Amino acid sequence: MNLHEYQSKQLFSRYGIPVPVGEVASTPDEAAAAARKIGGTKWVVKAQVHAGGRGKAGGVKLVDSPEEAAKAARKMLGERLTTHQTGPEGLPINQVFVESGSKIDRELYVSLVLNRETGQVSFIASAAGGMDIEEVAAHTPEKIIRVGIHPATGLQPFQCRVLAYGLGLAGDQVREFQAIAEALYKLYLECDASLLEVNPLIVSEGKLVALDAKINIEDNALFRQKEIGDWRDASQEDPMERAAAEHELNYVSLDGDIACMVNGAGLAMATMDLIKLHGGAPANFLDVGGGATRERVTEAFNLILSNTRVRAILVNIFGGIVRCDMIAEGIISAVKDVGVKIPVVVRIEGTNAEQGRKLLAESGLAITAASDLTDAAKKVVAAAAKRGR
Ligand code: GDP
Ligand code: MN
Repeated sequence: MNLHEYQSKQLFSRYGIPVPVGEVASTPDEAAAAARKIGGTKWVVKAQVHAGGRGKAGGVKLVDSPEEAAKAARKMLGERLTTHQTGPEGLPINQVFVESGSKIDRELYVSLVLNRETGQVSFIASAAGGMDIEEVAAHTPEKIIRVGIHPATGLQPFQCRVLAYGLGLAGDQVREFQAIAEALYKLYLECDASLLEVNPLIVSEGKLVALDAKINIEDNALFRQKEIGDWRDASQEDPMERAAAEHELNYVSLDGDIACMVNGAGLAMATMDLIKLHGGAPANFLDVGGGATRERVTEAFNLILSNTRVRAILVNIFGGIVRCDMIAEGIISAVKDVGVKIPVVVRIEGTNAEQGRKLLAESGLAITAASDLTDAAKKVVAAAAKRGR
């Protein structure tokens, strides 16, 4: 689950990590009022969307008066912001964050991320902050410093110094950096984050300040992160992925036109590969799970059919724990209930596969049976192509 910048900064404040004074606003008037309340002579108005790259996309505006803050908010609120991280549709801007403007001497980069290879949290830092870190990593990897944090010892003071000196910090800033680094690591662990990024961490009038904040929370830990879980902003999420999560289906939208319904994540990946191999494009990844009951199959059909790009459906089920004849019944009733009007190609294999195929053949429904996975992929690609013409 992703957090907004203002939510991440709220957590930063709790952990004693310095952030600019800020207020969230949902209307231009609120933005002006926020600027007045914050005080000073410079403010920044920032679009709150679940994506980075806002600066380059017009989602971060520096202003000199509360009236200008209102004007900047009016331009953003109700619009969609498209950045290099959002995809072409962009994300809706429902809130802006108004902050006291900072004077920037240096822009640094720091992040914490789980390194699955080493089983440790990696602390990553770079003096090349404020830019796309992927670009820095690709073109000047020597500018990136990494330390692995051993789970038993935690972040060590010497590691903080390695990072601080690597960032070109000296004197009091080294101690300041250590306090911030330790607080970030504590927050990362206690809030079950999977990613925490500060880009940029700035040096402003000699002091370190987190100017931007991005936190992703591990979904599987949300049961013990009640407060943070309530901060979820569904407007920033794919509505279909959200509906799928409610039915415990693993669904990811893709941009092709062949919907897939598969049990097992590995089989789902293989199915998408085969569709591609035969010249088609999958519309989604969908794992209905091991217990593919009639209800779940029905929900899954509803879900994939709500994508208007879909021209054909490939159902690929391996009957291991569940029997194929039961799955066939599920498919038949789901196709009837939902009123599926596009071609459905079904490949079922495993326990009672013969009986299952017989049920499908005798159902009177326009379901094409496939003998194996390659056959299924070829048939569904052909069916989709035919409807595309
Ligand atoms: P992102 O583009 O979505 O990552 O948004 P950021 O919060 O990182 O802001 C983008 C850039 O805007 C930063 O790298 C800064 O260069 C600039 N910026 C943001 N806030 C301020 C501020 O208070 N003062 C100044 N001078 N620049 C700012
Ligand atoms: Mn940033």
